Amino acid sequence: MIDRGHGYFQKEKETMSRRRREAYLKERLSEILRYGYRHSKAIRSRFDAMGIKPQKIKDLKDLENLPIIKKTDLVAAQKQVLPFGGFEVVPKQGMRRIYISPGPVFEPGEWPYRDTRWAQALYACGIRKGDIVLNTFNYHLTPLALMLDDSLRILGATVIPVGPGNISMQINLMRQLKVTGYLGTPSFLMSMIEAAEGMHLDPKGDLHLKAAFVGAEMFPESLRQKLEAKLDIPIRQAYGTVDVGCLGYECPEKKGMHIPEDVMVEIVDTETGKQLETGATGEIVATNFNKVFPMVRFATGDLSYLIEEPCPCGRTSIRLGRILGRTDQVTKVWGIFIHPWQVDDVMAKFPEVANYQIVVTRREYRDQMTMYVELKEAIADQTVLKRKIEREIEEVLKVRAQMEFVQRGGIPDRAKKIDDRRIWE
Ligand SMILES: [Zn+2]
Repeated sequence: MIDRGHGYFQKEKETMSRRRREAYLKERLSEILRYGYRHSKAIRSRFDAMGIKPQKIKDLKDLENLPIIKKTDLVAAQKQVLPFGGFEVVPKQGMRRIYISPGPVFEPGEWPYRDTRWAQALYACGIRKGDIVLNTFNYHLTPLALMLDDSLRILGATVIPVGPGNISMQINLMRQLKVTGYLGTPSFLMSMIEAAEGMHLDPKGDLHLKAAFVGAEMFPESLRQKLEAKLDIPIRQAYGTVDVGCLGYECPEKKGMHIPEDVMVEIVDTETGKQLETGATGEIVATNFNKVFPMVRFATGDLSYLIEEPCPCGRTSIRLGRILGRTDQVTKVWGIFIHPWQVDDVMAKFPEVANYQIVVTRREYRDQMTMYVELKEAIADQTVLKRKIEREIEEVLKVRAQMEFVQRGGIPDRAKKIDDRRIWE
């Protein structure tokens, strides 16, 4: 297996000594906190509410004194102060893009702030100058595909902005244009491989892939092994969120995800917001150095742990371990967050419905979502209602669900609204 992931995007930065790294982070942290306090109304009011001045927060440990920003806080703040909740620094006229993520959360695009964290991640994955890269992440509304697109430009690679869907066309494109890089979810990559095999192609010989970068989904080792065996190239993942950007990426060792230099990551107790010791499982909280939309202690809702032991690749940053799940009931299906309240919104439109539950399962590395519905009383034509509900779910949740009627009492009392039954080993 040829592995192009060796070397560094920014050697000096990625291999800093521990002492230099600490000094670097302290300096960046105090710079962004002062900047945020001066320019972002929402950041300032959070400091003021605690009676703390930014000068008091000098390092990672001190951050504990500031409140956590949860996604729901951001949604609430944006309802009060449209569109960005007062977090933004740049006036609307100066923004390159406005992104809209599920919530909904509005987010100003990054220009002129330049973020190289995703570029680091892509480099470590093996993407190089001159590569032709298929970007299958969704370009609509949310920032990930465009952030990666911008990062590929930094690396000097060529992008095909194809987005998800239309697999046989994508396979033809890969062959015609001799595509060497893949960006997308691991399950979509698996679907492409299976489709290629269905077209009597050998994914190793007939495709020209040299590097594949996956994210936005859980990535079990068993799936990695399967993909690597099919393609004979290493598959590496990165982790991040639309609100705070890249928080970790894999190196050739594939033993945890290196935290990029230009962000601070804490693992905290979800209830108290206090930092946990290295190795303990808790919620990932990030403070980025984004001068357009600064986030101080943003809680991702994802669970992981920190790895401090040195990595043989030479990078000196600490690493995030595996992503272990979500802190709340929010579930990710096909890389898209499904919130219980969205399901409520859909079902509120159907007065015939007495009770309902979504069950998420996984078969052959693909997520499957089934919606079970109990009716108040039997109706003559269930097919029409079934179709209406399915259409509404797809419209609001952006994910397709199979709907099944169950008899009255079929869904147990106090059942979880979204029951995630997927197993990740
Ligand atoms: Zn490493």
